[in-house]
Amino acid sequence: MTPDPLEAMRLFYAEADGAIAAAGGLCRNCGACCHFETAGHILYASRLERFYLARTALRAAATEQPAELLAAGLRCPFQSAGGCLARIGRPLGCRLHFCSAQNDDFSESWHRELKRLHETTGAPWDYKPFLPFNWRQAAKKP
Ligand code: SF4
Ligand code: SF4
Repeated sequence: MTPDPLEAMRLFYAEADGAIAAAGGLCRNCGACCHFETAGHILYASRLERFYLARTALRAAATEQPAELLAAGLRCPFQSAGGCLARIGRPLGCRLHFCSAQNDDFSESWHRELKRLHETTGAPWDYKPFLPFNWRQAAKKP
């Protein structure tokens, strides 16, 4: 039987969070790495990641950021002065960007796991820049 994508992603993130913590990853949710317009990096996310986030985050969170920066993909709608508003559903890339123990092999192995999950659930990989975030598209069941 094909696994439920929401439940499969919940379990996947729980496992990834456990492995990240065991590897010494410590994110204080300060939000510094979420400033894409100054940091200059691009966050990518898969179809299932966007789906899980759209189904677990509060849509009201998107109101805090300037519309022009959101539309340009320069600001994450979940970024706030108090940190990430979508902590439960944030993409794998956000979880792996921990300050204290960055490791490319570790990151790649978890992205391979994520890709396998897409194959298991039949969801398209569709790995692309996370921003600008399209709620309507993301919330559709893959
Ligand atoms: S990973 Fe990002 S949000 Fe977490 S502590 Fe480091 S800079 Fe702050
Ligand atoms: S989803 Fe959260 S952690 Fe990821 S970039 Fe947006 S505010 Fe930062």
